Amino acid sequence: MDSKDIQDDLVEVLLTEEQIQTRLGELAAEVWEYYQDKDVLLVGVLKGAVMVMADFMRHLPGSAPMDWMAVSSYGSGTKSSGVVRILKDLDADITDKHVLIVEDIIDSGLTLSWIRANLESRSPASVEILTLLRKPDAAKVEIDTRWVGFDIANEFVVGYGLDFAEGYRNLRDVATLAPHVYS
Ligand code: 5GP
Ligand code: MG
Ligand code: MG
Repeated sequence: MDSKDIQDDLVEVLLTEEQIQTRLGELAAEVWEYYQDKDVLLVGVLKGAVMVMADFMRHLPGSAPMDWMAVSSYGSGTKSSGVVRILKDLDADITDKHVLIVEDIIDSGLTLSWIRANLESRSPASVEILTLLRKPDAAKVEIDTRWVGFDIANEFVVGYGLDFAEGYRNLRDVATLAPHVYS
């Protein structure tokens, strides 16, 4: 990062830390109710979902195991490559498990629809999706997403785990990035 002060690179805070936490609390209650008589395995997609996973699972009234997958779909830029490759697979076998994918953002939906199909091919009991953010105007494929934190405009955002060239993940809010940073 050239700039030391992250705030100089931002245009606008879209979602504050407090708004995010409140919403995750609501989602956690709904999810817990939904899986009341089942064991759920939380599957996070690295690296963007790290913050969502950490906070969401701490809002759950009880404990649930987590596992992680890493795929590549974006490079260091802001456009989807459409190409998905597994960089790190799950540690565990998910046969007969109830899987909840925990995501940071659904943009075109290409990455997540690929991940979902990949997990469904492993004979789990069920696969559902929770995402903190979704950009309805950017959708290229339809994805059945049971839990969405916030629908946002079709703009590139950073913070709360979301990066630009690996920076800004540590911002506590979700914000739009100034064009001077990436142009
Ligand atoms: P999709 O395949 O849905 O287009 O995008 C998948 C991935 O692209 C997301 O999981 C995220 O890592 C990245 N991505 C999509 N939109 C944004 C955005 O607005 N900001 C950032 N930082 N990453 C994004
Ligand atoms: Mg992601
Ligand atoms: Mg990224």
